[in-house]
Amino acid sequence: MHYRSTRGETRGIAFKDAVMMGLAADGGLLLPETIPAFSAEELAQLVDMPYADLAYAVMSRFATDIPASDLKDLIDRSYATFDHPEVTPVVHHDGVHVLELFHGPTLAFKDVALQFLGNLFEYLLKQSGRRMNILGATSGDTGSAAIYGVRGKDNINIFILHPHKRVSPIQELQMTTVTDANVYNLAIRGTFDDGQRIVKEIFGDAAFKSEHSLGAVNSINWARILAQIVYYFYAWARVRKPGREKVAFAVPTGNFGDIFAGYMAKRMGLPVDRLILATNENNILSRFVEEGVYASSDVHETWSPSMDIQVASNFERYLFYLCGEDCDRVVQAMAEFRRSGRLSFTGAERETIRSDFRSRAVSNSETLEQITQFYRQADYILDPHTAVGVKAGRDLAAPEMPLVCLSTAHPAKFGDAVQKAIGIDPPRPASLEGIEEQEQRMEVIEADTETIKAYLASKAI
Ligand SMILES: *Cc1c(COP(=O)(O)O)cnc(C)c1O
Repeated sequence: MHYRSTRGETRGIAFKDAVMMGLAADGGLLLPETIPAFSAEELAQLVDMPYADLAYAVMSRFATDIPASDLKDLIDRSYATFDHPEVTPVVHHDGVHVLELFHGPTLAFKDVALQFLGNLFEYLLKQSGRRMNILGATSGDTGSAAIYGVRGKDNINIFILHPHKRVSPIQELQMTTVTDANVYNLAIRGTFDDGQRIVKEIFGDAAFKSEHSLGAVNSINWARILAQIVYYFYAWARVRKPGREKVAFAVPTGNFGDIFAGYMAKRMGLPVDRLILATNENNILSRFVEEGVYASSDVHETWSPSMDIQVASNFERYLFYLCGEDCDRVVQAMAEFRRSGRLSFTGAERETIRSDFRSRAVSNSETLEQITQFYRQADYILDPHTAVGVKAGRDLAAPEMPLVCLSTAHPAKFGDAVQKAIGIDPPRPASLEGIEEQEQRMEVIEADTETIKAYLASKAI
């Protein structure tokens, strides 16, 4: 299996190189050159498989340059850190199948991808005798999942910038209580936007980047999408009934990574009825699906902050297929979007989009109402991101069709919203017990690119 860029210049890339590359050299995103298909017989074989075996069955189609025993070992180690034997269990409440993706070390679905990516980086670096310094900025959530993905790994240091005192206390603690020697938490005296700008400027310095082997763990890495394809198959296997194979999925969406994994699963032959793209009030993607216009606007703060984005970094992957795999059109469209902040689509393209997805934007008050209603009906606490998905899913799934709602975070991570909706604090899972008392390590630092470069240079592996 080889990989190519959505922009056409980079192609014929092995899986291992696609993982290490992240973004393609031509600025595009990497995709497999062909999409492997599962026949009905092959799908039937997945039905009773444990998570790790199913993950191997799916991932081995894409990671053809990693020996079977190595890939199995990477998968086993990545999911042994989850606190549930099923890794991503499906629970049924109030007519909805909730796919719990929050059993990893930081209680959010990003662990499913980042636990795997951390092990994969370590494995590939060891083979090539190289090192990597991961640099990223976080507004709260991704940072801790990335840190847990690579803590204690060989030949990797990680530097995560977060805005000092502007992330929630739990989010800060989840990052700063990781005291492994290869983890550097930098609390910048500034905002998340400052952090993003600094990271962008540092990556823009090609000499500095190559001198220190800088790497990223953002959601555009193909290995993250790959790890996420697995749980669509897993949930399908738990929910489908013989003779009634189709299942709908509702996906709380921000950067389009998670739902793109569902789109790939469908193209691989998984019997997916509808992919329901749920957004909060930041509705660029709902407008894209329902109106055929992709136009950015200002970011609003909502109860589901991990979905407060305007420009979706994985959108270009879908655009590639929407444009009939025509790279020149992708290049033109992305340039047009950079220029005008807006893209519109033809009637035929709009039809394709609407046959691939349905979408709904869910307001702040609807989000809280959904938490309240679900708690009353089912005695089950949804986190606000999951509530957005449940609301959109219930509105848009065909009646009688089994509906799987992806639950992207544990409610204890977003206790304020839950408290506001139902007046109680969600019970804390074991991994948060006593976190306030644990040793913390972070460096408070000026939000200044040169200062942070100097720090990085002094600590880089
Ligand atoms: C990142 C995140 C999302 C959005 O996922 P994308 O892949 O960016 O669409 C949804 N919910 C939670 C809790 C997240 O952390």
